Amino acid sequence: MPVLRGAGDGMTENTLDQLITAALRAQHEAREAQHPRDHSVFHDSSANSCLRKRVLIRSGAEVAAPQADDLRNFEFGHMIHGLIQRALLAIGAIPIVNGVALLERTLTDAETSGTFDCLVKLNGSGYTLMDIKTCSVFAFQHLKEEGAKPGHMQQVCRYWLKLKGLYPIHDVQIYYIEKDKGFTRDFVIPMTEGLIRETTADLTAEQEAWGALPTLPPRIAAGSPDAWQCHFCSVYEACGEREKISKFSPTFDRATMLAFKKGGAQ
Ligand code: SF4
Repeated sequence: MPVLRGAGDGMTENTLDQLITAALRAQHEAREAQHPRDHSVFHDSSANSCLRKRVLIRSGAEVAAPQADDLRNFEFGHMIHGLIQRALLAIGAIPIVNGVALLERTLTDAETSGTFDCLVKLNGSGYTLMDIKTCSVFAFQHLKEEGAKPGHMQQVCRYWLKLKGLYPIHDVQIYYIEKDKGFTRDFVIPMTEGLIRETTADLTAEQEAWGALPTLPPRIAAGSPDAWQCHFCSVYEACGEREKISKFSPTFDRATMLAFKKGGAQ
């Protein structure tokens, strides 16, 4: 039976929502204990995100516990990833090399770590490197208008840079799934000189920021197009914000709300 957090703070009965949140939290913590995240390096999934946040996490800042909606989103993402990976594995579409399926493999070097979703046998010779993203209906609409998110493109480019010498990779794709109706959209991400240059510049920026400690990179300025990231930030206290900015706050204006919705793919 999961232990309910927050019991005793005026609540005499547990609601169904509290019970489910406690159950999801227990599951999340068990998974974290089984596969602890390595905070001694930067993570490829953080490509192109707030540098200050990346440096804070790597330097051991306290990370806020996920809220109930975060937990539901994590579980939804895990569920979709597992569902697709198991289905592809069952039909033999995921290569197995030396008895090991090429999915959920962690690639590390001295400074970075990243876990790619899977390689897929799709177009004859070579493999497709595929990354799966679940997203809100708003983020999905944004994708239709503006294409894959730059951070996601840099993330898969980082995986590709690590994998290209190991496996014959034919192409790289991001497969987005919208969480409301299950609509999908896949983007082929060409590994162009421009994308490689941007990705490499971001990797260099990480290293320079790390080398410049204890001076932290600046905060994202309020009102900037990137300010939506602060609404998802797990180290907002260490950053110097007193509390996580709420999307229900009066300062959360329409422009920020639109940017927030666009940024909602995970
Ligand atoms: S609160 Fe915003 S500026 Fe501060 S670390 Fe988080 S994302 Fe970066």
